[in-house]
Amino acid sequence: MEDQGWGTASASLRAVVGDNNFRTWIEPLDFRGAIEGVVTFGVPTSFFGNYIRQNFSEQILEQLNNSGVSASRLNFDLLDSVVKTPTTLDQDLHVKSESIEHGVRGGKLDSRFKFENFVVGKPNELAHAAARRVAEGRDVTFNPLFLYGGVGLGKTHLMHAIAWELQSNQSNLNVMYLSAEQFMYRFVQALRERKMMDFKELFRSVDVLMVDDVQFIAGKDSTQEEFFHTFNALVDQNKQIIISADRAPGEIKDLEDRIASRLQCGLVVDLHPTTYELRIGILQSKIEMYHASYPGVEIGQDVVEFLAHRISSNVRILEGALTRLFAFASLVGREITIELTKDCLSDILRATDRKVTVEEIQRKVSEHYNIRLSDMLGPKRLRTFARPRQIAMYLCKQLTTRSLPEIGRRFGGRDHTTVMHGVRRIEELQEADHQISEDIDMLKRALQG
Ligand code: ADP
Ligand code: MG
Repeated sequence: MEDQGWGTASASLRAVVGDNNFRTWIEPLDFRGAIEGVVTFGVPTSFFGNYIRQNFSEQILEQLNNSGVSASRLNFDLLDSVVKTPTTLDQDLHVKSESIEHGVRGGKLDSRFKFENFVVGKPNELAHAAARRVAEGRDVTFNPLFLYGGVGLGKTHLMHAIAWELQSNQSNLNVMYLSAEQFMYRFVQALRERKMMDFKELFRSVDVLMVDDVQFIAGKDSTQEEFFHTFNALVDQNKQIIISADRAPGEIKDLEDRIASRLQCGLVVDLHPTTYELRIGILQSKIEMYHASYPGVEIGQDVVEFLAHRISSNVRILEGALTRLFAFASLVGREITIELTKDCLSDILRATDRKVTVEEIQRKVSEHYNIRLSDMLGPKRLRTFARPRQIAMYLCKQLTTRSLPEIGRRFGGRDHTTVMHGVRRIEELQEADHQISEDIDMLKRALQG
C-alpha cells in the first residue's frame, strides 16, 4: 500500500528535517497517492505548497523512493474549497514559483491573473486577442483555442483571465479549469474508486473546459485516451475548450496523432518570447502596483532597463526579481540602484547570463552583413567576406569560452593564428573605424538578448 509507503517516508523525514520542521510542514501534508511518479498531497494553502516545493521537495522525494513509492514530482492540491483571498504582496514575496492551480468550480483562481493585469505587446497580442474573444463567451468560433509557448510567458495567466471574465459576466456558464496533471489525477482516482460514471458526467457537463499544460499527458496512454473522449464529447456538444501546452500540438512528443490533429482543429496561437519593450511594459505595470504597497521605495529607469535587458527568458523570474528588490530596498531603507540590484539578484543574474554559441554568432553576423553563411565559413578572401568573418571570430572570442583553435575549427577549419590575427585586426579597427565599433555594439546587444 502506498499509504504505508508514505508512513515510512514521513517517519524518516522527521529525522531528516527535524522535529520542528516536521510538525510545521510535513505533518499537515495529506498524502493522496502516487501516480506515474507524481505524488499528490493536500495542503492548506498555496503558500504552504510552494514552501514545501522550495524547501523540502528533494528530501520528500528521496524518502518516498527509499520507502518504495516511485516518485519524481510533487503535486499539491488545496485541502478546502474556499475562495482564495486576493494574494497580498506579502504573500507574493514568498510565492515565487508557480502558484497552485485548481478547478474554477471551487471558485479558486489566482486573483492576480486577470486581463487587466496582463500587459499586451507584439509577442502576445494574438494570444491575448483570442483569449479575449473566447472570454466573451458568446458563440464558439474556434474550438479548441490552443495556446502554446515557453515557460513563464503568460499561458496560465491568460487562461485564468478567461475564467475570471466568464465567471463575472456569464455566471450561468459552468467553467472548469484544471491542469492536465490534475485531469490525470482525477481520472486515475475515479478508476481506483470505481467512479468513472461520475468522472465522465462531471467532465461532460461543463460549458467551458480549460486544460493547462496538456503536454503532461503525452505518453500516458489511458489518460490520453480518456482525454480524447472527453474532448470529443464536448466538441460535439459545441462546448468551448481551451488548451495550453509548452509547444505546438504536432511537436508534443508521445502525443497520439489523432489527439494532436484534433487539437489543431480550432485556433492555434503561440506566445512568442518577450521583447525588450514588453518586458519594460510589464515591469512598469508591476512597479505601479508596488508603489502603492511600498511608498517611498524608488526605482530608477536605469534599473528597469537593466532588468529588462538581463532577465529575458521568463516573465515569472522577472517578476520575482522585482518583488525581491522592492522587499529588500524597503527592509534596508535604501533606494534601488543598479549596485543594489546586482547584489540582491546575483543568483538570478548569474543563472540568466546568456550563453551565446558560435553558431548564433556566425548566423547573426552573416545576416547583419547580408552574406551567405557558407561564404563566411568558406575560403573566399574578398573583403566583403573576410571582414564579417573576422568580426564573427572576434565576437566568438569575446562572448564564448571557446579557445582560438576551437574557433578556427568552426570557421571552416582555419588555423588558430588566423583567428588570432582576425581578432587583433578587429580590436584595432574598433578604435579607428566608427562604423565597425557601432556594428559590433549592435551585434553584441542582439546576441546577448
Ligand atoms: P506560463 O503558464 O506560460 O508558464 P504564467 O502565465 O504562469 O506562464 O506567467 C508567469 C508569470 O508571469 C505570472 O505571474 C504572470 O502573471 C506573469 N506574466 C506573464 N506574461 C505577462 C504579461 N504579458 N503581463 C503581465 N504579467 C505577465
Ligand atoms: Mg502555466
